[in-house]
Amino acid sequence: MSVIEKKSSAEAMALEERYGAHNYHPLPVVLSRGEGVYVWDVEGRKYYDFLSAYSAVNQGHCHPRIIGALKDQASKLTLTSRAFYNDKLGEYEKYVAEYFGFDKVLPMNTGAEAVETAIKLARKWGYEKKGIPANQAQIVVCRNNFHGRTITIISASNDPVATENFGPFTPGIVSIAYNDLDALRAAMNPNVAAFMVEPIQGEAGVFVPDEGFLSGALEICRENNVLLIADEVQTGIARTGRLLASCGNCSCADKNCSGTPEVRPDILILGKAISGGVFPVSAVLADTSIMEVIRPGNHGSTFGGNPLACAVAMAALEVVRDEKLAENADKLGRLFRERMEAIAEETDWVRLVRGKGLLNAIVINDSEDSSTAWDICVALKENGLLAKPTHGNIIRFAPPLVMTEEQLLDCLEIIRKTLAAFKK
Ligand SMILES: *Cc1c(COP(=O)(O)O)cnc(C)c1O
Repeated sequence: MSVIEKKSSAEAMALEERYGAHNYHPLPVVLSRGEGVYVWDVEGRKYYDFLSAYSAVNQGHCHPRIIGALKDQASKLTLTSRAFYNDKLGEYEKYVAEYFGFDKVLPMNTGAEAVETAIKLARKWGYEKKGIPANQAQIVVCRNNFHGRTITIISASNDPVATENFGPFTPGIVSIAYNDLDALRAAMNPNVAAFMVEPIQGEAGVFVPDEGFLSGALEICRENNVLLIADEVQTGIARTGRLLASCGNCSCADKNCSGTPEVRPDILILGKAISGGVFPVSAVLADTSIMEVIRPGNHGSTFGGNPLACAVAMAALEVVRDEKLAENADKLGRLFRERMEAIAEETDWVRLVRGKGLLNAIVINDSEDSSTAWDICVALKENGLLAKPTHGNIIRFAPPLVMTEEQLLDCLEIIRKTLAAFKK
């Protein structure tokens, strides 16, 4: 068979099964096109995307402005490495630093790389600015976190599926309960360089901490000369109804944020939607007093800060601002939870609805190891809506933020009908 011949879903899935490593368990749908909140499978069936590539496609699929920037830059210059300057990087660095209100940015590609970068930055700061004795630095993290997949990052994980048989692990990581300020206070000692936290735990099942958790954590960090690292790879870029879930004292606050500013982290980690899901782009932001510990040769990436990434990310962030995606996420998120609560009343399948902005989840009323959440996602797919279960029996709902109210109500009706008809 010629490779340019159109493949059926079954054939495409068989190829992945045969030739790909089985490191994912996808829903059985094969997509070949996307536009805005919609995706189409190879047979031409249309679906609402209710995952947005784990919140990477906040701006909607194939946003014309972002694709335009990609095409335009791709025909001029794509990669120089950092051995030379390029005419896009400085422009992007200024843009992104001012956009989020930090002095400096260190550009990388994937979320995991940015998390690694933040850990390296915090350790180096710990030794050179705080005076932690050599090789004694500790990073405090939270249980049930998700920060990515490298060895150091899984060293901070307590998920057995993510860690089993990947040891030995990186030392210097201390794990405490999420949303527990007493535990954070107890973990403090002179060797702690940083506390790294997700403002909402996304992969864990959209756990929203108590009001005041982040500001309380920042206060404890300040008292102990410890850096607060916010991993906003999933929660950032308007997903939770503000530019950042930890949105704080930054220049964006008046223009983009529709919620109450809470906390300005010392180190901010971004990825996913910073490129609108068009190209792998990630970023670590911090002020000069922290970022200056990184000097030539200390850290880098061949692709980090490439001109194509810079052009795409600027366009993606412009879309967030110009289309007021934070405001839309805030408004539609409230509507979604209100209507979803009503659906939960009608059905026995939903135990709980939670979330912020358009990062929401429902907890399915069945045992954690049952396949009910998966089966409901398959039924939702049959009815034209794509979502995926996350840890335990939880379904995450995270549509693109360009969704309209009418489309959201349509989606809620699909969810309502699917749950009403669902049988085990
Ligand atoms: C997805 C994610 C990462 C990892 O990003 P990758 O691009 O998959 O490496 C890190 N932190 C959080 C909170 C994430 O959601």
